[in-house]
Amino acid sequence: MPRTLVRRLQSAVSGGLEMRVLLVEDDDTIASPLQRGLVREGFVVERHATGGGALQSVRDGADPSVILLDLGLPDVDGFDLCRALRQTTQAPVIVVTARGDEVDRVVGLELGADDYVVKPFGLRELVARIRAVARRSAAATTLPTPSSELTRLVVDRRTREVVVDGRDVMLTPKEFDLLALLAADPGAVCTRERILDEVWDPHWYGPTKTLDVHVSSLRRKLGDPTLVETIRGVGYRLRERGAAPHAVAGQ
Ligand code: CA
Repeated sequence: MPRTLVRRLQSAVSGGLEMRVLLVEDDDTIASPLQRGLVREGFVVERHATGGGALQSVRDGADPSVILLDLGLPDVDGFDLCRALRQTTQAPVIVVTARGDEVDRVVGLELGADDYVVKPFGLRELVARIRAVARRSAAATTLPTPSSELTRLVVDRRTREVVVDGRDVMLTPKEFDLLALLAADPGAVCTRERILDEVWDPHWYGPTKTLDVHVSSLRRKLGDPTLVETIRGVGYRLRERGAAPHAVAGQ
């Protein structure tokens, strides 16, 4: 069995005791306290100030549980680096950006990062996100992929927790509200207008593309893209349990 797979299995079995973070950040005033904080939280941190160094390390066999990637690096474009890392390793990527307006590109199909944080961010929030993406990644590589028909979804409005096939799914507040709205009436179509009204703002006149971005992020986190169906030109609906998945458009 390859060493990386053994480590992944050990990490999954032990509940992720040895969590390795590959930290890619050129700004020492951010990287140093962040590294200390993560080590205090029990992570093993390998730090790189350049994209080239990080990519080389992964190519040389580093097997991080999570890659924490600052988009603003001195030597390479962060978006290009994220794509290169995606082609080199299975490790989930959390993107760190200083610009909120980059978020749509980051979580959308263009980059497909597993999660993101916007500077300035708190250590506690970041640690929760690292643990969540690492847990999802370990589950995805060690458990058989469940068939779509058997996907079980639990949406707990009281605690705002979501469980898919026994695994916790960490959603952003908007993603949760969107899922909760669809889950209130499985099988029923929710129009885009109603979703924008209820999840965003009754006076929302912004670009409706933000809804598509949230839906694609939600599908990715749920791990079953057929759970949230696109009804072309109308809106979305949650597939009823036991119903055969339809072809999902607009992905
Ligand atoms: Ca930077």
